[in-house]
Amino acid sequence: MSTWQLIFKKLLGIVFLFIFILNTSLVFAASKTEDNLEDINVSKSQIEEILDFFSESFQNKIPIDPDVATIQFGYENFEEFAKQYLKLFKLTDISIDEVREYLEGTDQSVIIDQSQENLDKLYALIINDKYFRKKTGYFKKFKKGKHKGNQINKMALAVYINYEKEMAKITKNPNLEKVSRFAFQYGFSWGSGSPYRFALEGCEKSAKKYKLFGGECIIVEFRNPVTGEIKNMLKPSIKLAKRMEELKKEKLKPKERKKVVVKIEEPIISANINIPVQIYLVQVNKPNFKSKITEDEVIKDFKFANSIWNKKGLDFRILEIAKVNGNAKKIEKDLKWIKNKYIKSLKIDQKEQKVKSKNQKKYNEILFRLIGSKKNRNKNAINVFYIPYMPSKLSCGVAYSYSLNKPNNSQINQLRRQNLGFIVIGEKSDCKNRGRTVAHELGHMFSLGHKHDQKTDLMMWGNGTEIQNWQINKFIKYHSKYLKKRLSL
Ligand SMILES: [Zn+2]
Repeated sequence: MSTWQLIFKKLLGIVFLFIFILNTSLVFAASKTEDNLEDINVSKSQIEEILDFFSESFQNKIPIDPDVATIQFGYENFEEFAKQYLKLFKLTDISIDEVREYLEGTDQSVIIDQSQENLDKLYALIINDKYFRKKTGYFKKFKKGKHKGNQINKMALAVYINYEKEMAKITKNPNLEKVSRFAFQYGFSWGSGSPYRFALEGCEKSAKKYKLFGGECIIVEFRNPVTGEIKNMLKPSIKLAKRMEELKKEKLKPKERKKVVVKIEEPIISANINIPVQIYLVQVNKPNFKSKITEDEVIKDFKFANSIWNKKGLDFRILEIAKVNGNAKKIEKDLKWIKNKYIKSLKIDQKEQKVKSKNQKKYNEILFRLIGSKKNRNKNAINVFYIPYMPSKLSCGVAYSYSLNKPNNSQINQLRRQNLGFIVIGEKSDCKNRGRTVAHELGHMFSLGHKHDQKTDLMMWGNGTEIQNWQINKFIKYHSKYLKKRLSL
C-alpha cells in the first residue's frame, strides 16, 4: 500500500470518528457507511500479486530468487511467468533471461566497492555492450560531429541502470562480462547548449517503453566531437558509501541464534456451518461481451465447490439464481480503457504506485457499475455475480471483501459486519474448472488470502483443492465474528 493510501485511510478514520463524536448516534454512523465500497479490497490475480511482490521487494531492498519466487506464486517455473509477463506488456525485444536478470535484485551481502577501478569497469561494460552498440546511433553521430549544419561540441550518454546492483555484481565478480539489460539515450548540443537534459529525458522514455524497473537514468559519458575528448561520468554515490560503512559495522557484530519452532500436528476440524448464497446472472448482450450461462451450469459450479468445502463441514446453499440487468452501456469503451490503461499500469515500479491504485479504483468502478452492485444485493447471503468474462482477463474471478482489508480501525469491522462484499465470476476464462474458482473466491469472502507455499492448496492459483486446518479456523472465526447473524439460514 502506498503512503498516500495509508494517509487517506487514516484521514477517513478520523472523519468517521468526528461523525461519531458529533452525533453520538451509532445509527447515523452506520447509515453513512451504507454501500461504502470505496476502499474495499479485491483479491488479486496471480500476475498482479507477483508483480506487487517484486515491486515491494525492490522498494525494501529485499533480495529475491526469481526462480523460487515464481514457483511460490504457483507458476510451473520462471519461464512460464516470464512468458506471461512479456505477453501482457507486448514486449518482444527482451529475452526471458534478461527478465530474470532484472528481477534478481541487489545482493545485499556484498559490501560494494565504489573504487575508480570498479567505476571504470562498469563504464566499459556499458560502452561495449553488444546490444547497445548494435542499436545506438551515438558513435555514428560522434564521428559525424554535425547536426543540420551545426558543429556539435557536446554529447552525453544517459543509461537507465540499477547502479547499486551492477556495482555489487562487479565487486563480487571482477571479471563480470555483462551488465543487465539497460535503456539508453544520448543528447548533443552546439554553441553553449547542454546535452544532458535531452539524454536523460529520452532515457526515461525508453526505460518506460521496455518496462524496466528498479533503476534510474544516469549520465555515463561525455564526448566532445571537436576536441575528441571522451570522459567517464560515473561517480560514486555518497549515500551508498554511507550505507556500506554501516553494513561493515553490522557484519562485525556477533550473530543471534535462531529459535527452534516445534510443529504440532493438529486434529481434523469440521465446521458444521451452512452459508446462504445469492446468485446474480448479469445479462449483457454486446457482440464482444455476451452472457450465456444457464442455471444448471451455476448449480454444477456449486456442486463442485461444495465437494471441496463439505470435507471441512461447510456447505454453501443457493437461495436464488436471479437474472438481472447490469449496466453495460459503456462496456466497449471500458474494455478499451482496461486494455490500454489499466493493464499497462500494472508494471513493476514503485514510483508508479499512485497511478496503479488510481487505475485500480477506476477498474473497480467499471466492474461495480457493470454488475449493478448497488441495486443487486442480498445482505443476508454471500453475493455471487456471473459476467461473460473478467474485463481484465487476468483472473477467472475476483472477490471484493472487507475481510481482505487490514483491520486497522473500527470502521473496517463495521463494514465487515454489513456484508458489503461480493464475488464476480467470469463465465469464460483461462481456468479449466469454474467450480474451483467459485470455491477459491468463497474462501476470500471469509478472510482467506493467497497462501504462498504450495500448489495443492485451494487458496493458491492453479488446480489445488486442499484446505488446511488453520484456514478453516480462520474461516470459522471470521464467520462467527462478523457474518453469523446476517447469514443465518
Ligand atoms: Zn484469489
